[in-house]
Amino acid sequence: MATIAAPELVSVNPATLEPVGSVRRTDPDELPGIIAASRAAQRRWWALEPQARASVLRETARVVRGHADEIADVIVAETAKPRTEAIANELYAAVDHAAWLARQSPCVLADERVRFSQLHLKTKKAWLLYEPLGVVAAITPWNIPFGIPFAEVASAVAAGNGVILKPSELTPLTCEWVPRILEEAGVPAGLVQVVQGEAEIGAALVAEQGIAKVFFTGSVSVGRRVAAAAGARGCPVVLELGGKDPMLVFADADLDRAVEGALFASFLNAGQACVSAERIYVERSVYEDFTQRLTARARELKLGDDVGPLISERQRDSVEAIVEVQRPERDGWFLEPAVLRGPLPDREIFGPAVSVEPFDSEDEAVQRANDSEFGLAASVWSRDRRKADRVARRIEAGMVWVNDFGYSFTTGQAAWGGVKSSGFGRTGSKHGLYEFVHVKYLDSDRGRLRPPWWFPYDAETEQALRVVLDVLYGTGLERWRAAWRSRRELRQLLRRSR
Ligand code: NAD
Repeated sequence: MATIAAPELVSVNPATLEPVGSVRRTDPDELPGIIAASRAAQRRWWALEPQARASVLRETARVVRGHADEIADVIVAETAKPRTEAIANELYAAVDHAAWLARQSPCVLADERVRFSQLHLKTKKAWLLYEPLGVVAAITPWNIPFGIPFAEVASAVAAGNGVILKPSELTPLTCEWVPRILEEAGVPAGLVQVVQGEAEIGAALVAEQGIAKVFFTGSVSVGRRVAAAAGARGCPVVLELGGKDPMLVFADADLDRAVEGALFASFLNAGQACVSAERIYVERSVYEDFTQRLTARARELKLGDDVGPLISERQRDSVEAIVEVQRPERDGWFLEPAVLRGPLPDREIFGPAVSVEPFDSEDEAVQRANDSEFGLAASVWSRDRRKADRVARRIEAGMVWVNDFGYSFTTGQAAWGGVKSSGFGRTGSKHGLYEFVHVKYLDSDRGRLRPPWWFPYDAETEQALRVVLDVLYGTGLERWRAAWRSRRELRQLLRRSR
């Protein structure tokens, strides 16, 4: 939890409620200067060869590994999440993304030659060029305070952009590592800058003309506000928002694995993962067995060691407003993990609670999984891979895992993002990189042939163009017949081309 002590923003450990440290809030008046400095550094950064940028990304992965323990320390201090999670989710995500970007960004973003099969365009040479947007904003949440901002910023930088990072006010210290690491690895000073504060500085950043695109990760309500504000000045956005993820367990699943998978998917990060399983649907014949086993395993989880606290009192209140959960007798914003029977409202819980319900058929399972305004991720559990893959294809979500959960968050080549209210646009994979560039079409012509469709117009040219439509685009013999019939008009077009 952060408390207001202007101009300092104080970060508080949610288990001990002790202050961890503080940062200075950024004044919105400082933004134009910060963006201009990033833009100046971005021009130097973009002037480098792609391989030179890639080698800095490679070095970035090494620098993260070199500082792994210090970064894990600050993540744990600010969130009180188990250290294993800080390492497995945040550090792995950062290093894997940097390593993938180093290997792949020069290929993904290399100039792409456009080939023409059309006869009349054979003299042309064209390319798709992937050019950086300039300076982009990344606005990020507290639940993965290092992994998410780092992956966003590294992708932006790999594509040649400058970045202004606005981390959550609840985890301001962890994010300070992002520019520190990139600069140690060799990106120009000032390319990546952090602005600190609450909603006000985030909103001011979105309103700045110098920001070419906003990459927002957070709640649906704030995401929509950000998209509206950015849209009002014609600025594009990527929205990575919340979910209400279903897990479908068929009777032929490996139940030991499914129970352990459900335990992890529901209580990882105290249920504060965007892709947490919040709804589990189990085929009726194994429903009772599954639910009892999951409930027993949830009781064995140790608060503090396995399941951390909620990030703030406000977050704990918001969970309690949706579900009935127990508060333990201890300091900090903890809640006991809860396995509940029956349906819950279609709202993101974002806490250690999951509902379990039975289903009777494959169609019903799919229909219930899709019966939500959200569409971030889902998982399907069955030994019958064909059935599981078939079901996975029918689920309305940006990501579906079969007999696994969530691993692709730490995988550079996997696309991450949702559909429906869970957002649009992608991070990760080549599609994530494409979000950070605009595509320029470059066409180069020697200028020797004059296009016959240029001025002046006359009836003969009009007729010639009409018949040549069939010559160029007809299929099979149709083309040759049209060419023979239209030989006079073809000659006319050739004459006009000289
Ligand atoms: P949030 O929406 O409250 O805040 C996110 C960020 O937006 C913070 O930095 C906050 O300061 C900033 N902000 C708040 N108001 C703003 C405004 N008006 N203009 C600009 N910025 C503003 O979310 P949170 O509580 O920090 O994070 C939890 C949410 O994030 C959950 O819904 C979770 O599902 C979602 N999330 C999604 C993903 C994903 O990949 N889809 C990943 C992690 C978290």
